[in-house]
Formats: sequence, structure tokens, C-alpha cells
Amino acid sequence: MRKILFESLMQSPLTEPAPGRDEAALAELATRVDLAARRRLGRSLSIREVDAGSCNGCELEIHALNNAFYDLERFGFRFVASPRHADVLLVTGPATRNMREALARTYAATPGPKWVVAVGDCAFDGGIFAGSYAVVGSVNEIVPVDLHVRGCPPRPTDLLKGLLALLDA
Ligand code: SF4
Repeated sequence: MRKILFESLMQSPLTEPAPGRDEAALAELATRVDLAARRRLGRSLSIREVDAGSCNGCELEIHALNNAFYDLERFGFRFVASPRHADVLLVTGPATRNMREALARTYAATPGPKWVVAVGDCAFDGGIFAGSYAVVGSVNEIVPVDLHVRGCPPRPTDLLKGLLALLDA
């Protein structure tokens, strides 16, 4: 027991170091984010995740943000269960017809100032589901998107970079 305790004290933390600045995300945000509103929120953001029709690949990467390795909460982010408590909507998947109304209502229920981050290639332009009878298209066609995090799915580090850009913008 003493040996294990000693070893764990000597080891460096397993947590992933914070990623560097995402200049592309900062540039996209610069045109959208109201600085005065950002200052009011400080260094903490509450996130409501909305699956608008994804294959769940993006959700797996988003879930990884909460594990001990990526440890999202050390940056001041936390996931919340209601849009009424959220500052950021993290939206995945193409916007499907079935989720169009729910997404619009979730956006309306989120108090301002608020931001929408579209996660994954599907959220950007429909991705591999583009053209399907079940799909409206990009998330931007339903709610105004402030930042796109591209990838299929994007890596947790890319998601972290995008979210950190929101704090830095
Ligand atoms: S971007 Fe890729 S992983 Fe994400 S919902 Fe679309 S197909 Fe799935």
C-alpha cells in the first residue's frame, strides 16, 4: 500500500495538457462574439449538448471531454441538463426534420448571451447524411452558429480548442 502511495505521488499527472490557441476558431468567433457579453460571463461556461440527428460518433468524443484525461471542468466548463442553465449549445449531427422543432425550441429556451457551437462535419453541411429525405441540412439553417468544429468526428482536443477559443475571444 505504501509503495503504491509513494509511486502515485512521484508520477506526473495523466491529464492531457491544455491545447494551444486555435487561431481559425478565434478568427471565426471574432466576428460573432459580443465582447461585453463575454466579460459578463467571466471564465466559466455552462454547456447544453443537443443531438440534432448524429450517428453518436460525435457524442462519444464529447463524452470523452468529461473523463480524467481531458478533464473539461478544470477549464471552467460544465455540462448542464437544461438549456435554461446554459450559455453554450453544443449541437451535433445534421439538422434532421424530426429535431428541427426541438432544436429551435432549445435555442429559444436558452437565455442570452448565448452561443452555438456546431460539432462535426454533419453539423457543418449535413456531412454523409446530406441529401437525405430526413435531413434539413446544416445546423445553421435552424439556429445561428457562432463556431464550427469540423471533423468526423472531431477529436476531443479539437473540441477543447474550440471551447477555449470561446473563452479567449
Ligand atoms: S460528423 Fe461523423 S461522427 Fe459526427 S455525427 Fe456526422 S457521421 Fe457521425
